[in-house]
Amino acid sequence: MGSLRFDYDIIVHGGGLAGSSLALALGRAGWRVLSIEPNPPTPEPIQDPDQWQTRIYAFAPRPWGWLAGLQVFVPEQRFQPVTRMVVKGDAAGRIVFAADEVPLPYLAVIAEAETVRTALWTALYACATVDCVTEAAASLRACAVDWEGVTVEAHDGRNWRARLLVGAEGRRSWVRHVAGIRAEIHPYHHHAVVANFETEKGHDQTAFQWFREDGVLAYLPLPGNRVSIVWSTSPSHAEALLAMDAATLASTVAEAGERVLGRLSLRTPPQAFPLSLLRCERVVGKRTVVIGDAAHGIHPLSGHGINLGFNDAAELAALLGSAESGKDPGDPVLLARYERRRFEEPFLLQTVTDALAKGFAWDNPLLRWTRNCGMSLVDHLPFVKRRLVRYATLAQ
Ligand SMILES: Cc1cc2nc3c(=O)[nH]c(=O)nc-3n(C[C@H](O)[C@H](O)[C@H](O)COP(=O)(O)OP(=O)(O)OC[C@H]3O[C@@H](n4cnc5c(N)ncnc54)[C@H](O)[C@@H]3O)c2cc1C
Repeated sequence: MGSLRFDYDIIVHGGGLAGSSLALALGRAGWRVLSIEPNPPTPEPIQDPDQWQTRIYAFAPRPWGWLAGLQVFVPEQRFQPVTRMVVKGDAAGRIVFAADEVPLPYLAVIAEAETVRTALWTALYACATVDCVTEAAASLRACAVDWEGVTVEAHDGRNWRARLLVGAEGRRSWVRHVAGIRAEIHPYHHHAVVANFETEKGHDQTAFQWFREDGVLAYLPLPGNRVSIVWSTSPSHAEALLAMDAATLASTVAEAGERVLGRLSLRTPPQAFPLSLLRCERVVGKRTVVIGDAAHGIHPLSGHGINLGFNDAAELAALLGSAESGKDPGDPVLLARYERRRFEEPFLLQTVTDALAKGFAWDNPLLRWTRNCGMSLVDHLPFVKRRLVRYATLAQ
């Protein structure tokens, strides 16, 4: 490796959580990486214990452990481990998952997306083999692929040559487009309403999820007496929730959550995001690969979008190994192997999540009875529950 004809081994276009983690993992392995991101995180993370960002995610144990392996650490006061999860149906169905039954130290970690991204970028800036360009005009506008490399041109006229181009720009990926990778997007006709609340009662490290007639509501615990909510519901209901004053929204969310944590007080203004399923026919092209949401989009009820993205990054970095191996990172055989290894997990999770999102939307009394009985039955089957948790936490 290290031919003078190449400016970099790998260019990563998009520095969200998936792209920045991949750039860091590759940089740490000695690859010369260019990371292009027009909107890098602000350098000062929020330290005020009462101030929380609205975008809060559940991170599964495997990707969270992978980040720790890259020496990327989020301050202890900014994340909350979850050791118990209570899932309720729209009648009497209920399943309780506990980390010690599996056993796992925790089922998930809840943290702010931007705080995790700031930690990743701090490590990225310090990595000697990674160059970061963050001007808006540095994003790419042209790309030419030949048999041994890829030459790209930025909007500001700069150009670079590398052996592999990675698209990590999220759902509207430019690399996916220029690589000719077709993506199917199926809207769910659901919006996810997110907001943070202070709670009257302690959450005891428990996450809650209710499959309701009007959608799926989740409470994700934060440090202290706080929760972040994700309520996936119809666009009109989402609009109504966003139009409520703080007190009405808090009591509506508390009521929908059966007041398990007592009274709620709104801490951040609610926001809504339209939801869709995104599936690609392939995730690799000639000397190109797409990862994260550029490669797959999933309903947030499973809380796995970025977990899949981190697993993509970890797999690609593992396949490439150390830069000293002398591998060509754009080798079609290697990319085909990556594609095979990263087919099953996103596909299965998308399929199960899609079925759950649609299954609970059917308002048929027989189906409602069946799904609620199914939940309660599984709750009494420890072996099935253990398998489900290992699968759902990507720990299998
Ligand atoms: C309401 C909601 C709740 C969610 N909760 C969870 C959860 O609990 N757990 C979980 O795992 N996932 C969750 N997700 C999914 C998660 O948000 C995504 O899977 C994740 O953000 C994808 O990360 P990414 O890095 O692939 O893409 P993105 O986050 O979209 O990042 C893309 C990056 O590329 C940059 N970019 C865009 N265009 C260009 C360009 N032309 N040139 C260069 N750079 C570009 C952007 O600035 C951005 O930084 C949730 C999603 C929603 C909507």
